[in-house]
Amino acid sequence: MTEPELSIDGKRLRRDIEQVASFGAVDTETGRGRTALPGDEANGEARDYLVDRLEEAGLEVRVDAVGNVAGRWTPPGADPDAAHVAAGSHLDSVPRGGIFDGPLGVFAALEAVRAIRESNVSPARGFEVVCFTGEEGTRFADGVLGSTVATGKRSVEETLALTDGDETLEDALERIGYRGTGRLDASEWDAWLELHIEQNTRLEDAGVPLGVVTDITGTVRCHVTIEGEADHSGTTGMTERQDALAAAGELVLAVERNAAEAAASGSGTAVGTVGQFDVAPNAVNVVPGTVSLRLDLRSVESAEIQAQLDAVTNTLAAIEDDRNVATTFDCTYDVPPTPLSRRCRNVVLDAAGDRGVETRRLHSGAGHDTMQVADVTDAALLFAASVGGYSHSPKEWADWADCTAATAVLADSLARLAPTDER
Ligand SMILES: [Zn+2]
Repeated sequence: MTEPELSIDGKRLRRDIEQVASFGAVDTETGRGRTALPGDEANGEARDYLVDRLEEAGLEVRVDAVGNVAGRWTPPGADPDAAHVAAGSHLDSVPRGGIFDGPLGVFAALEAVRAIRESNVSPARGFEVVCFTGEEGTRFADGVLGSTVATGKRSVEETLALTDGDETLEDALERIGYRGTGRLDASEWDAWLELHIEQNTRLEDAGVPLGVVTDITGTVRCHVTIEGEADHSGTTGMTERQDALAAAGELVLAVERNAAEAAASGSGTAVGTVGQFDVAPNAVNVVPGTVSLRLDLRSVESAEIQAQLDAVTNTLAAIEDDRNVATTFDCTYDVPPTPLSRRCRNVVLDAAGDRGVETRRLHSGAGHDTMQVADVTDAALLFAASVGGYSHSPKEWADWADCTAATAVLADSLARLAPTDER
């Protein structure tokens, strides 16, 4: 049978994203960004704008205890007891972030539901348009805050008590009017779709507007200390030193080399980074005595993360022997790789094929709320092509035509996940 053709209003989508970009706007010579940290005033204004649009479109709005927003619509004739199909993203940003990261997914979900409502499709399931609280780890926690509560991994009480040093999440939500009640429960959804800007150039390089994510990378973060001996840089001879920084230099290069090897020989998704580094006493005339650094190791294959961890262990043992330093190695953050639902991915690929929208399968090297939701229901992540691959920057950009095409595929996919009675 022929699929219903839903009509996406690209201008309306653009207006929504531009309007939200005006809250906490950051104007620079190279682009237009936004700063809307979780629970701040700009985040509150963005939420108010969303709630107005949800209500205007006839959705029933609910705000849960940690500020997650959901707009629900049960179509006439749909089974009121059937699990809903949900889509959305987040409205918070990093400081001086891009205007698409988050808002695209929220307003594409709203536009998709508006398009379904305005069509003559009669879906058998209801829909939810969702904005999760605190996806970016810029305030209160490491990120994906609202989705960890909606998936039952973190309690409401513990989350509300999180503090940024000055105020608790509860107080911040109270102040902007988004300390609601109850808990949004993602496990009640039949399926979840998130559209996000790619944050890379793989789609642009391929000339393809839409990516369908196969897996979200796993991430392990570790803390390493290297203890040598601080000494006078003039009087300590080269054979007498226990230079912690020179030893750390060997580790940094080994992390880079090991990740490159894992990437070249395996899934192609392995990356390894030493992104944080402290040297003590950090003085020009002192041989460095102590280095403390943090590693971030990723891949969609757990074995490739493990291989990188093993290599770090071996490198540290060699450095201890060669350089007479002591080391510690301790990994506290471990999020396993998340493969995404084949059922949802196939629905998206079919919808895109029928629309004539070209797609590419790829992995996500960044974490998203979808990696949480995927643990409790079928979930898929769609990427709209980035221009230049910039993200977490006012330079972030996507073509409006690509956003519209991606939103059309999102709408068709949602409609197919909530099929009409006769199908
Ligand atoms: Zn995002």
